[in-house]
Amino acid sequence: MKMNNKKCTLAKDFIESNSIPIPESGCWIWEACEDHGRISFLGQNVLLDSLVFEAFKGPIPNDKIVTHQCHVDGCVNPVHLRLLNIRINKKDKVKQHL
Ligand SMILES: [Zn+2]
Repeated sequence: MKMNNKKCTLAKDFIESNSIPIPESGCWIWEACEDHGRISFLGQNVLLDSLVFEAFKGPIPNDKIVTHQCHVDGCVNPVHLRLLNIRINKKDKVKQHL
């Protein structure tokens, strides 16, 4: 999704008002209904992680995806999100399945 300043502000408000901060871990846990990590924002079906990243940090390069360094699904704390090369993340996934 292309983010201008207005959309960024809307997205930040949207994310902050729909998540609950967990003081122990620092995670912000997404509270709203989710469909495999996809949410509806401004009438568009978007990936929650990608929306958070773009709103708080900036555009995501084509060869990267957003992952959680805290490994908590549904965490939307931008500080816990990082970019991974698609290729490297596939390896990570393989490792996790072993
Ligand atoms: Zn987290």
